[in-house]
Parts: sequence; structure tokens; C-alpha cells
Amino acid sequence: MVERIKMPELPVERRLKSFDEVALGYSEEMARVEASRCLQCKNPPCVKACPLNVNIPAFIRHVREGNYEKAAEIIRSSNCLPVITGRVCPYERQCESACTLGKKGEPVSINALERFISDWELSRGFCIPAKIPEKTKGKKVAIVGSGPAGISAAERLALEGYEVSIFEALHMPGGVPLYGIPEFKLPKDVLLKGLKFLDELDVEILTNVVIGRTLTLNDLLSDGYDAIFLAIGANYPLSLGIPGENLCGVYFASEFLMRINLMRAYKFPHESDTPISVYGHVVVVGGGDVAIDVARCAVRLGADSVTILYRRTEKEMPARKVEVRRAREEGVHFSFLSQPIEFIGDENGRVKAIKCIKMELGPPDETGRRRPIPIPGSEFIVDADTVIVAIGQTVNPLALRGFPHIKLSKKGTIVVDPETLETTYSGIFAGGDAVTGSSTVAMAMSTGRKAAHFIIRHLSR
Ligand code: SF4
Repeated sequence: MVERIKMPELPVERRLKSFDEVALGYSEEMARVEASRCLQCKNPPCVKACPLNVNIPAFIRHVREGNYEKAAEIIRSSNCLPVITGRVCPYERQCESACTLGKKGEPVSINALERFISDWELSRGFCIPAKIPEKTKGKKVAIVGSGPAGISAAERLALEGYEVSIFEALHMPGGVPLYGIPEFKLPKDVLLKGLKFLDELDVEILTNVVIGRTLTLNDLLSDGYDAIFLAIGANYPLSLGIPGENLCGVYFASEFLMRINLMRAYKFPHESDTPISVYGHVVVVGGGDVAIDVARCAVRLGADSVTILYRRTEKEMPARKVEVRRAREEGVHFSFLSQPIEFIGDENGRVKAIKCIKMELGPPDETGRRRPIPIPGSEFIVDADTVIVAIGQTVNPLALRGFPHIKLSKKGTIVVDPETLETTYSGIFAGGDAVTGSSTVAMAMSTGRKAAHFIIRHLSR
């Protein structure tokens, strides 16, 4: 049996001082060899395990045969953002975890093959639907948020002949993949090229429009939108709620990444107006992909050393293993079973240390992971010149301002009918992280597709 072909990567010494993409993608030869490993299962478990149910064996068969245009068409019929999923989807927990080959050895590298096809498609400028629909339905839909859920819904609705307008609070579309994912994982020019198909579909994108401030949901309803899809994401940072969180030098991950990814603070002062202050020993708090992204950015921004504090063990870390491995290669250290209890400042109000406590694992909590429990008397001090808190986000309810008809859960997420994704206000639907709190790109996209289906049903009544 041919061994799984590894994705080539940028050498570590070149990663340390640049934001260049780390995973370099397959060559054509690599892709065809890897595609030849697929068993073409009759009842393929990989398809069921993909949130978008991409016909994986069919597209892989076309890669094997060198028919890349057909492979792209198959992927695109279920997934309009392969440039994103091919780079950041946790395949090892989705389609690849179910691959038949993985039972006895290494699964097919579905991720690398999808990325190969999306790169091929972009290089050919083929990123457009074969048939541009006419706006025949005479109904218009407003989508709030231009992340994966919003874009997927927009694509489906536009293809069915609806007039679609996307309202984006920032000056560029893309949502979390734009402002939350570093350049070395998802280059912005690749992302923006991957969104070009929205122009071809005649989807209107209105940037710098903050729903809840520039316009309200009531404004959209009075402007004649027949349905609204709320894909506002979850970008409101969760805080630790411990003393010292407001000290200088303590960032929330969302602000830190926004400065770097969107405002390109790493090019300050010559090519960017946005500064970022990262120096000395940088401590990141958290164990998810965002914590790893932040730590790897800090390495590139010239930190002397970077340590991730996580309150459980490596086994429970939600971050992708491949990214943890890359972080280690780049010199990031980990301190497990460690929980900050206070940020300590100097006489100028700048953070200088963190008081932590050691944890041990107790019985499983509601997430199925073992609950971390503080060990009395185990407090210790970690020196820190910069701290970044990356423990998660929740929904920013600003979009619902002045519109009390939509119910929120205790966690602050939008309550929807699980079958139709309609909120507690008829004609307004919601999906993506705004409903789930956090999900993968493919899961968010699947909610966008589902919402589009039920919006169409709602508008056809
Ligand atoms: Fe190919 Fe694995 Fe899917 Fe089977 S489960 S069709 S081997 S990718």
C-alpha cells in the first residue's frame, strides 16, 4: 500500500520571522498518488462524516484521473469555500476520522486533495458558477455577517434567483477566516480570491454597516427585505474574571488577531497604521486553535519566548494536533494543568507576572472532558511581559439592539428552531457560531445551506 503523502511545509527557520503560509500544498504528482490510495468505498463513511456531505470519493476519482475541473465542480456543488475548508477544517475530526483506510493505517489526506483542487481552481480563475442565475424570484433576503455561514446561505439563495444583500460590519468581507485566522494558515489574497464568485452571482456586499448601530433589524424589515439570515458569529471575548485583566499588556485574542490579521500590525509603522506591543515573555491562556494561532503570531512578532497555559492536559486540548506540532516546532512552550488566578502589574499599570494555581483532573463535565480542579496551596508565579487571553468567545448581541423579539439562550446564543433555524421572529433565521457558540467552518457553512433551504420554503408559502 502506498503511504500517505505528507503535505510539504515551509522550513521552521523561515517561519519564525515571516507570516508566509506554512502548509505549501501538494504538487500535481503528489495529489494523483494520494488520490490513488482512496478505496472508492461503495458506502463511503467519509461523506457522512463531512458536515457538507461533499461527494469525496467522486472528486478524488477525478483527481486520480487528472480531471481537475470535474473534481472542482463536485466539491463546489456542496462547498462554495474550499479555499477555506482545504486549509483550516479539522479533517482529522471530520471526514478523515471516518475514512476506511484509517482503521488499519493512515486515512486518505482528503484535506490536502481538497486544497489541491481549490488552488488549481483559483490559479485557473475558474472560481465561478457555470450558470449565472437571473434574479427571477422578485424577493430579497438580507444576510447579516459575511463569514462562512452567511456566504454559504448567500450562494444558495442567489443560485435560486433571490436578490441577496450581505451586511458586513468591517471594511472587508470574510468574517472569522479574514480577521481571526493568521496569514500563515490562510493567506488573505487566497481568501479574497475565493470570494470572487459572490460578484459573479450578483450578491451585493455592503461593508462598514454595523447592524444594531448603522442600521437596525427594523430598518431592514421596513426596507422590504422578505427574510433575514443572522450569521453574526461569536466574537465577543470571554474573560477570565480575575483581578488585573485590565492591565496594559493584557490582550484578548480577538483584538490581538484583528490587529494582526486585518490591520496588518506586523507591518507597523511602514505599511500599517496599527501598532501592536509584543515583547519579552508572552503568555497565552487557553487550549484551542485560537490560543495556538495567537502563540504562533507572538513568535513571529519577536517575542523572546512564548508559553501557553492550559488548565487541562494536552490530551483534552481542543486545538488541532497538526497546529500544536507546528507551534512546538516554532518554539512555543506549554504549561498544562495551570490556571491563572491573578494578573500582577508593575507601578506603571503594566502586567509583569501571573499568579497561577496547579490543577488536577476530576470526573468528566458536560463536555465529556475531565473537569479541572484547583489543588489548594499549589499557587505559583509566572513572569509575563505580554498576556493574551484566548479562552473563547460568545455572541455580541449588538445586531439585536432595539429588536427584543429574538430570544437568546442563557449562554447568549440565538435560540432557533433546530429543524428550520428560524428564530423566535417569523422570517428571521440564524446560523453558524451565533447559534452554536463555536463550530468548524464546514459546520457553520452547513447551517448557512440549511437556513437557505428553509428561507426558500418560507418565501414560497
Ligand atoms: Fe476513499 Fe476513505 Fe472515503 Fe473510502 S472512506 S471513499 S477510502 S476517502
